[in-house]
Amino acid sequence: MRIVLLGAPGSGKGTQAKILTEEKHVPHISTGDMLRAAVAAGTRFGQKAKSIMEAGNLVSDDIMLGIIAERLVEPDAADGFILDGFPRTRQQAADLEELLDQLGVPLDAAILMDVDFDILMKRLTGRRTCSKTGKLLNIYFTPQAEIDACKQAGGELLHREDDNEETISKRLQVYRESTEPVVEFYRKRGRLKVVNADGEIAEVNARLLDVL
Ligand code: AMP
Repeated sequence: MRIVLLGAPGSGKGTQAKILTEEKHVPHISTGDMLRAAVAAGTRFGQKAKSIMEAGNLVSDDIMLGIIAERLVEPDAADGFILDGFPRTRQQAADLEELLDQLGVPLDAAILMDVDFDILMKRLTGRRTCSKTGKLLNIYFTPQAEIDACKQAGGELLHREDDNEETISKRLQVYRESTEPVVEFYRKRGRLKVVNADGEIAEVNARLLDVL
């Protein structure tokens, strides 16, 4: 299974990709996670990426293509992958087509996680990660017992640096301007599937499995 998950920040791509990766036994490849790892490692590239991400802007297409080209030839991606956060521009979508052509592995589908714009803000401002388990939580939506479980396990609720209101507005604007054309790119090629991503995590997962 080779798929791309598309959707605005906060549409639940990461959450659903983490579940699908277990169900389908193919790696979850998140360019945002890869960039955050580079930032945490403190490399020169990581330092550059940090300021771009904190401003809510996009890392350049050629750098992203390099990162993804290296990742897709790793052995664990031989039988498929779930791309989360890539492609994010029309150029990246065209680059990915070319790369997959060269590798001889076409994409099965691009799935748009469709969510009303007003829900996104709450999802993003409330989003936290448990430092102990890596679990994604939301202070508005996750049952209190689950949040307490993280703290009881000795974990802390981590807030992503770019999940503040100013950066979020910028990221949503960048999504509209740069990433919505990617949706059209796949629609025109008859490869787009749209999933209603509003609702409980398990419900959305069931809808995803339905279209796959
Ligand atoms: P995400 O975790 O997918 O929301 O990504 C967090 C941030 O990483 C984005 O706001 C961008 O600054 C950067 N980023 C992630 N993926 C890409 C990409 N494909 N192209 C450019 N920048 C990216």
